[in-house]
Formats: sequence, structure tokens, C-alpha cells
Amino acid sequence: YFIHPDEFTDAVVTISGDDAHHLIRVMRAKPGDTCIVSDGVSREALVRIRSLEDRQVTADIVDRLPMENEAAVDVWIAQSLPKGDKMELVIQKGTEIGAVRFLPFVSERTVVQLDGKKEGKRLERWQKIAKEAAEQAHRNRVPAVESVLSWKELLRTASEADAAWICYEKQDAQQLRRAIREAVTKRSDRTDGSRVKLMLIVGPEGGFSEREVSEAESAGCVAVGLGKRILRTETAAMVGLTCILYESGE
Ligand code: SAM
Repeated sequence: YFIHPDEFTDAVVTISGDDAHHLIRVMRAKPGDTCIVSDGVSREALVRIRSLEDRQVTADIVDRLPMENEAAVDVWIAQSLPKGDKMELVIQKGTEIGAVRFLPFVSERTVVQLDGKKEGKRLERWQKIAKEAAEQAHRNRVPAVESVLSWKELLRTASEADAAWICYEKQDAQQLRRAIREAVTKRSDRTDGSRVKLMLIVGPEGGFSEREVSEAESAGCVAVGLGKRILRTETAAMVGLTCILYESGE
């Protein structure tokens, strides 16, 4: 299952780079073999391999497949940058479960220091993790992983979502259920086929300050609880995501 062929026309796809290498050397594919490719956005097809050259595979489209493995709503996970390699875990597991966008950000109590020179490499690594997790989960889309945002930039991005929820342990869990149901109702009201975009904002190990929660509320976000137990930051993102997809029917 390969996402992102270089060319995806009505009749043919070409695959190169690591994906071609994987097909040729690891899967030992031969001309005439079939596989499924996806452009990672909106198209998926069953293809038959025509030729395999050094790191370049060309295949003919046999059948177009419906895009059916995506969740009913688009969930964006905004994660205050956690320590160590926990962001990788959030991206990998969040992709498997069904998030479509990851927005790492820095908040008041984020302890991780950014290193300008290494940020590009780190973002590339996160995007690779999202791609591999999307392939293994048979997703139709590869989630987008954005570069690290400031708190202000994050709140601006929140205004682009249909609803933005800031996870706050002092809030009761009923609020999340109510908010999700409201958002799902909005979805069924839509007639133009556009997808509902929901943003879940999760704090760092030290949590959000009261000031941040009230700034988020002023920016239109709703504070939600995830239950009485205090979850680790990476657990909170997965629990929130799962609740949203469960309540929205996927
Ligand atoms: N000290 C632990 C750690 O090292 O990860 C827990 C930190 S918890 C304060 C981190 C973030 O997870 C919070 O800012 C909040 O966004 C979210 N969170 C954890 N438990 C939660 C709950 N019960 N309800 C809502 N959000 C929660």
C-alpha cells in the first residue's frame, strides 16, 4: 500500500524514491503484480505494475477505489511540545486512530527548547512517521504535520476550525460530550459536502496556566475535561481523539 505516487493520472501512476525501493527490493514486486496506491489526499486506485527500473515503478490503473477509510470528521491535534520523543508517539498513534493534522506548539510551561538548526530535520522525521503510520493503518490520507507554532499562532489557527477544544483537567467531562454532539449536528446540517474541522488542544507536562485557558476561551475555544483522572499529555491527546471519533460515529 503506497501513498503519494509522483504521478497519478487517469490511467497511470509512477512511484519513485523510497517507495519504489521498497516495492522492488523488499516486496520483490514483478511486472503484472497488483497493488493499491493512494495520492494521500483524495484518490485511491488498484494498479498493475508495468515496469520496474532502478528506483522507478510505472503502473496502470485497473480500478478506482472509494475513499472509505477516513473518519467522519477532520480532527486536528494541537499538542504542546512534550519532552523526549513523545511527539513522535502522538503523531504515530494519532495517525493510526484517524487525526488529519498535527500542530505542535509552545506554551507557557513547555520545557522543550527549540533548536532552529534542527527543526527542519525534526519536522521531516515527524512527516515520515505520519506517512508510515498512514500506510500501515490503510488510511486514504496522510495527515499534515505543521512546524512548531507559538501560542498566539496556535490561537489564530484555532479560529479556522469549526470548533476548538482546550483540554483542561479542571473541567468536567460532560462538556466534551456536549460539544462533540453539537459539532456532529453541525455536520449533518451541511449541504455542500465539506468536512467538519475540530481542533483538540492539549497542554504540556506542566499543564496550561489559568491565563492560557482564559485566552483560549476569549479566542473562541471551549474548555473540556477528559475525566477525573489526570492523564499524561500524550495519553490525553489519544483519549480526546478517540472520544471525538467515537461520538461522531467512526
Ligand atoms: N504530569 C503529567 C505528565 O507528565 O504528562 C500530566 C500532565 S497533564 C496536566 C497535561 C495535559 O493533558 C493538560 O494540560 C491537559 O491538556 C491534558 N489533560 C490531562 N488530563 C486531563 C483531564 N483529565 N482532562 C482534561 N485534560 C487533561
